[in-house]
Amino acid sequence: MKPRYVISACLCGMPTRYDGRSKPVSPAVQELIDSGAVIPVCPECMGGLPTPRPPAELCGERVVNTEGVDVTAQYRSGAEQTLAICREHGIRHAILKENSPSCGCHFVYDGTFSKQLIPGRGVTAALLEANGITVENEENWQ
Ligand code: SF4
Repeated sequence: MKPRYVISACLCGMPTRYDGRSKPVSPAVQELIDSGAVIPVCPECMGGLPTPRPPAELCGERVVNTEGVDVTAQYRSGAEQTLAICREHGIRHAILKENSPSCGCHFVYDGTFSKQLIPGRGVTAALLEANGITVENEENWQ
């Protein structure tokens, strides 16, 4: 099957999260994987960040990690690479992990590292949406 979605790699069982873990794979996502309908992407890894890595949050236009390091360039690179994959494969939809500073579709943490969510989009989610790609999270993509 021709791929129809890019999907956050951590939703596909790949241990790409900052803590070196993945998220549980839902039966619906497993079906997509089995059918070949998805291309897994991890923008943070593609941008050159290691796994595990210090957690990072959006601070306005920048992304900064808990060590005070500005990782905006890596986040933007991963977002651009994800958009390029969508364009190469004619993909118009993305399924992305909510709350992530890269992949969050509706909410992100507020930049204070105090577990406070605010409405907003991660760097990759925002770039995809600005380029006409529908972005949904792991709960509502269906
Ligand atoms: S950047 Fe996206 S795909 Fe990668 S670990 Fe974070 S939420 Fe998952």
